[in-house]
Amino acid sequence: MPSRTGSGFQGAIQVRADSFTGERPPCPRDCPTQLRKHGSYFRYAAPSGQQRVRILRYFCSPCGLTVSVLPVDQLPYRPVTVPRLEAFLDGQAGIGSGLDPPPGPLEAGCLRRAWTRFQTRVTVLQEAFGLLLPSVISGAADLWKQMRRAKESLRGILHFLAQSGKRSLLWDYRCLRLPA
Ligand SMILES: [Zn+2]
Repeated sequence: MPSRTGSGFQGAIQVRADSFTGERPPCPRDCPTQLRKHGSYFRYAAPSGQQRVRILRYFCSPCGLTVSVLPVDQLPYRPVTVPRLEAFLDGQAGIGSGLDPPPGPLEAGCLRRAWTRFQTRVTVLQEAFGLLLPSVISGAADLWKQMRRAKESLRGILHFLAQSGKRSLLWDYRCLRLPA
């Protein structure tokens, strides 16, 4: 999870590469200044496997926020790829044929935690989707099916959430709030 130092305006956040247009992301706190490049780091694309992806970072001088730009198939804070999580959630909701190949122990743990987290977010996500979903949702599996119907894919769902109010599938960007 992102963390704030508690003093001043520092913070760090990850945004999706498809959540902005142009070469650099704007400041998520709406500072008018262009962000400057702030190095990069590598992370593993998946919990098992050696493939790494490069994450570019930007820094907003006025507010001190560090912004990492996440490739579209990566999930914030979780080393599980978007297509794998999508197939897993389909399986949990009783649609699709499940994960192929099946997950190893590490990935299975990540996916289980993602599902546990997802189950706590039914109300929040239902609100975020509003009229795009039926008014009655009978639980996490139903919610997943309805979100799929509305936005086709997990990529579409994440893109929609990122555009529509600084939410994501498994958490909200609490660190965006400026201190009172
Ligand atoms: Zn800023």
